[in-house]
Amino acid sequence: MKIIKGNEYNIEIESIASDGRGVGHIDRLALFVPFSAPGDYLRVRAVKVSKSYAAAEIVSIINPSPFRIKPPCPVYKECGGCCLMHIDYITQLKAKKSIIENAMRRIGGFSDFSADEMIGAVSSVRYRNKMVFHAGRADGKTVFGFYAPKSHRVIPLRDCAAGAQNNSAILRAMAEYMDETGLSPYDERTFRGSVRSVFTRRSFSSGDTMVVISVNGNRIPKPELLTGRLTAADKSITSIILNVNKSKRFPLLDGRNITLYGSDYIEDEILGVKFKISPHSFFQVNPEMTQRLYMKAVEFLEADKGMNILDIYCGIGTISLIAAKSAKKVTGVEIAESAVADARENAAANNIDNAVFYAGRAEDIVPELIRNGERPDAVILDPPRKGSDSDTIAAIISAAPKRIVYVSCNPATLARDAALFCGGGYEISRCCGVDMFAGSAHVETIVLLGRRDM
Ligand code: SAH
Repeated sequence: MKIIKGNEYNIEIESIASDGRGVGHIDRLALFVPFSAPGDYLRVRAVKVSKSYAAAEIVSIINPSPFRIKPPCPVYKECGGCCLMHIDYITQLKAKKSIIENAMRRIGGFSDFSADEMIGAVSSVRYRNKMVFHAGRADGKTVFGFYAPKSHRVIPLRDCAAGAQNNSAILRAMAEYMDETGLSPYDERTFRGSVRSVFTRRSFSSGDTMVVISVNGNRIPKPELLTGRLTAADKSITSIILNVNKSKRFPLLDGRNITLYGSDYIEDEILGVKFKISPHSFFQVNPEMTQRLYMKAVEFLEADKGMNILDIYCGIGTISLIAAKSAKKVTGVEIAESAVADARENAAANNIDNAVFYAGRAEDIVPELIRNGERPDAVILDPPRKGSDSDTIAAIISAAPKRIVYVSCNPATLARDAALFCGGGYEISRCCGVDMFAGSAHVETIVLLGRRDM
């Protein structure tokens, strides 16, 4: 049957694709349907048709999947961030395991690949320590929320079930202050206005909160009015930062930071190591699951006091410093200068003297380290979504470490890079998903590779 845009069809949803949409087939054409669940029997309308697939929207649910539940967030559809919230948690985990396996098979070429059982979330709500809310306007008043998918339209919300509860008091105080002082929200479409976003980061170990207000300008009116309002609204605030960001290209936390109140960093603790976190530095957003992820990383590394470990894309040195406790030496590599500065301070503050950090691009630093004779016994890499690159991977392979642990937030690039390692004499011995983002389609994976000749 030929699928025609605008026409309606009946379809059964079979699985969940890597972007969280449900997938079913008509003849052999795959149809992608957002907010559907495996086992749904649906009336759908085709909204886009190409040679290899079609996209469709739900017209009506003829027979709902037994795995459907009532999503705990009222704006989950408009926001789109937690696009699996209408599916029960066990089915979410199964879907994520399949997403990893499919990527490994299709992109990595690992036939019949099977992953270990997912490590499921401790909490499926209130698990995030960091949120970024964008400013907008509705009915003449300031509102905060997230951008609707693929747009700069703010979906107003008073609370996000994934984030900390105190965010709502912070946003309310901020909106009141803006309405009183006439400070306008920034519009990403016209590049006009002042307040771009309010970013909150909460330390789960201390309960402290950092608030970063990102503005398109050098100052804000009556800063003491704002700090007074915010600290009165939420007693856990220990740091308020003004982020001066006039960049059109980098909307999130580019530019200079001015401390308006309290400390210029926040501290958290993971597995007995304290971390100082600057506003711009990357820090895992789900502390409960980060512990589990890092425990898995340490298990896979099999660190002992005779081992040299190379931690690439090390951020503020989280994995490095945890691993350093049971290794001879750890070398961290990270592109963000501020994160490397934090990593060095974190090492000193925790009395760890066997960790060194280099600031720069992995693709420059790692080949140079290896050329200069560095021979790590084990390598851990935790790259951003785009994955690692062929220069870094070739350098790692040439150093022939016994073990490589790859932590990934994108199964597609993980599969691509794992295939490169396997082409260089390695094989995958373990692969396990860790659900850092319950309700969303994000998949975190940790893989252990060992040398085939050992
Ligand atoms: N392992 C850390 C951070 C992982 S996030 C943790 O668990 O907290 C990925 C990190 O890679 C970020 O800190 C980012 O700044 C860094 N990064 C991105 N591109 C890079 C590159 N080309 N070279 C080195 N580091 C890079």
